[in-house]
Amino acid sequence: MQARVPIRWRMTIWYAALLLVTLILLGTGIYLVLRTVLSDTFAEQVRQDAVLASAGITIGPDGLSVDPATLASFDGDERFIRVVDSTGRITVDTADAEELGAGVLPPLDVVPIRREYRTIHTDDGPYGVAIVPIMRDGRVAGAVEVGVSRSDLEQTLRLITIVFAVAIPLSLGAAMLGGYLLSGWALAPVVDITNRVAVIEADDLDTRLHLDLPDDELGRLAATFDAMLDRIGSAFDRQKQFTGDAAHELRTPLSLMRSQVDLILDRPRSSAAYQAALIGLRDDVDRLTAIVGTLLTLARADAGTLPAMRERVDLSAVVRQIVASYASQADAAGVTLVDEASPAIADVDEGLTVQLLVNVMDNALAHTPIGGTIRIGCEVRADEVCLWVADTGAGIPAEHVDRIFDRFYRVDAGRTRSQGGAGLGLALSKAIAEAHGGTLTVASTPGEGSRFEFCLPSAPPMGSIAVEARDRTNF
Ligand code: ADP
Repeated sequence: MQARVPIRWRMTIWYAALLLVTLILLGTGIYLVLRTVLSDTFAEQVRQDAVLASAGITIGPDGLSVDPATLASFDGDERFIRVVDSTGRITVDTADAEELGAGVLPPLDVVPIRREYRTIHTDDGPYGVAIVPIMRDGRVAGAVEVGVSRSDLEQTLRLITIVFAVAIPLSLGAAMLGGYLLSGWALAPVVDITNRVAVIEADDLDTRLHLDLPDDELGRLAATFDAMLDRIGSAFDRQKQFTGDAAHELRTPLSLMRSQVDLILDRPRSSAAYQAALIGLRDDVDRLTAIVGTLLTLARADAGTLPAMRERVDLSAVVRQIVASYASQADAAGVTLVDEASPAIADVDEGLTVQLLVNVMDNALAHTPIGGTIRIGCEVRADEVCLWVADTGAGIPAEHVDRIFDRFYRVDAGRTRSQGGAGLGLALSKAIAEAHGGTLTVASTPGEGSRFEFCLPSAPPMGSIAVEARDRTNF
């Protein structure tokens, strides 16, 4: 697995990157708007000053002159005023050519003269310069030029830049720290879940996370883990129980066989006695082989590999065959067998279906007293095909009905194996029914009898299969 930056860091870095882009865009926008607004206001102010100054200009014998009060306001390095008459002669000039840089101020153009504003760059920094004509008796008598240093404005803009340059990294740092702490806080339950799940071993599947989280994504994740552990735990318990029961079920007959062998070998016997003992042992071996066979079939069912060979089967023929093969057994038990089969075709594994019916029939015969009846039949219903075995036997007490399909479960646990099976018959029958996509159900009334039904979805009509096959060959 490729090592990656932890989610916590990735979230923080993404968060910081987005914030940085936002802050830079916002800062640049604010700076540009402020600069435009401040420059416009400044230019307007310089123009106003020029207009005011032009109003205070008098025409004396020495030409155009500025009144002293106005002239005083242009003392200092930051501002200057220049006046030119219509002949192009400069009559007032407070500009300090040395400070502004020689030749920086362009000659005042008098004709044609119009209002004008521009920024000039001098050794002393940029100046906003406004020129307005001086009108006397409807004629242009000259022009006045006012210049104001933009240094204050530039200083303000520089200050704003510095504020942004400091504020952006600071807020970015604070946001990264906040983001790191927040994502750590949000992801803490994940770390908690990981740590707790990591220490759960196969043999302590009873452990649960039991995290008291709100019903959000992480709360549901923890609850899902607990639910999954519940399922794994009970599957594991069932498996353990099954293995234990199977071992127990195999060990008892094996130790019985061992004592039989010990008994026979205890002293020399006649060949007839050995033969009798071996016949007894063969029966036990057959019995064990049957149990092992059933366990293997159940294991195949668990692995999902049942049934192997499904084909179109006439179920009424199967019922007839079962009735025939149980006839003498039923006769001996004093039980009447009734064939209730009506025509029914289904796609089943015939061998497994017979095995299911045999298991259910064995039980029915075992639990039906003399004079009782066992009905076995099949029929097609709305969209399913059903097989049943109904007896008039002892029935099954309500508290056991739900459990009789469990592996190794017997209603009367005290019964010996000679009287009953290993408790696997119905478990296997149910597995066979489910492997066919069907169900095996029971309806039982103690004292009146039980009815077992195996139902599976109807087979599609023969015709449609033939058409499908033909289409495929055309293809
Ligand atoms: P077993 O091998 O012991 O017969 P099964 O799985 O076939 O095991 O049956 C489980 C239990 O269900 C049996 O122990 C039996 O008591 C009960 N049972 C099954 N079929 C019938 C029936 N037709 N009538 C009464 N009890 C039944």
